[in-house]
Amino acid sequence: MNRLGLYCSRCSAKLPFRYVEMKCDCGGTLLVDYDLECIGRTFKKEDLLTRYPSMWRYKDLLPVSNPDCIITLGEGWTPLVRLKTWEQKLPIGQLWLKREEQNPTGSFKSRGFSVAVSLLKESGRTKAAVPSNGNAASALAAYAGYAGIEASVFIPLDCPPLIVEECPLYGAATYLVDGFIHDAAAIIEAGKHEQGWINVGTLKEPGRVEGKKTMGLELAEQLSWKFPDVIIYPTGGGSGIIGMWKAYHELKALHWIDGPMPRFVCVQEEGCQPIVDGLAALNQAATTQAVTAIANPTGMRVPNPPDLALILSIIAESGGTAIALSKSQIAEATQTLGSQGISSSPEGSATWAGLLALCDSGWLLPSDSVVLFNTSHAMKYAKLTSSSSLPTIRTYEDYRSLNK
Ligand SMILES: *Cc1c(COP(=O)(O)O)cnc(C)c1O
Repeated sequence: MNRLGLYCSRCSAKLPFRYVEMKCDCGGTLLVDYDLECIGRTFKKEDLLTRYPSMWRYKDLLPVSNPDCIITLGEGWTPLVRLKTWEQKLPIGQLWLKREEQNPTGSFKSRGFSVAVSLLKESGRTKAAVPSNGNAASALAAYAGYAGIEASVFIPLDCPPLIVEECPLYGAATYLVDGFIHDAAAIIEAGKHEQGWINVGTLKEPGRVEGKKTMGLELAEQLSWKFPDVIIYPTGGGSGIIGMWKAYHELKALHWIDGPMPRFVCVQEEGCQPIVDGLAALNQAATTQAVTAIANPTGMRVPNPPDLALILSIIAESGGTAIALSKSQIAEATQTLGSQGISSSPEGSATWAGLLALCDSGWLLPSDSVVLFNTSHAMKYAKLTSSSSLPTIRTYEDYRSLNK
């Protein structure tokens, strides 16, 4: 067994492994602890050459101990695309985009739920629930469906309707909540004993961070075991940032890679920017007042990340930053990425908008290699308007009259 137990990311206390209750007595988040010395003796980089292109190629660094319990729908090993045209236009060294929208449920949430649902299976649980702005709900729904586990999902009612509709298609009991993601979480906490649910919300169980860790492992492997200089990542609850940061610590401990950690940049949307505000408060800059009621919410709308302090410490440790973008900057970015052949969700687009802002401010250096994460694709956020009402789409009659 590769997992030793759990450790606290704040006070470093060590605890035996468990499947639920990821808070330490000190208030810190518990993460999975591995015997990296032992893993390093049996698991070599070269082993990967013959492994299947899925995130489970890193199974030695994942916490599922019974291989029969692995629940996989083909997640991970997503393409890393180099954006050469813009690389030349912008004052940076290299520009890459990680195409997380290609995961089985159309977002990188597949990774976390592949591991989380495998752990549910391993621990014999049969019912799970999640509060979500959409993609976590559809990922739980899909993986639980495949595993034969009952899923219940609670989603704020203003979330993207197409993502909401995916959930019952995968067989999940689907509920809309008049409130934010933390209101949805409170419903699950209140009902979990009566309903027998395991709450698989962000940082409530050990699997989701471990699944997202594979983004960091993959990126290192795809860049031939080098760190990029900068990772720009759309951040909501923060499990992705925490997972990638953990990946890089583990790779260093295995001596598979060295050099400085990538600088982590969290991008958020103006109006719900607790990480940007938290960082400003740490730096004693003036903070803006977070207005959390933004329209058309995305995976970044998480007013109360479960461990903000951990996210801020990762940004500080890595020399990163956090930045909020406006809706119009994000919409423009969707168009710019689209015209390069990339279908990007608002969250993925925010990384592009962040890239431009950090070039403008001079925060990015001419030598930097930068990786953007396109965490989902545009189609999941499409509005059901008729095509004739879209100014960019013309009819056959328009074509005829334009070509007389
Ligand atoms: C959940 C989500 C995010 C935020 O990710 P975290 O790792 O929870 O911070 C970003 N983009 C998309 C598309 C999401 O679904």
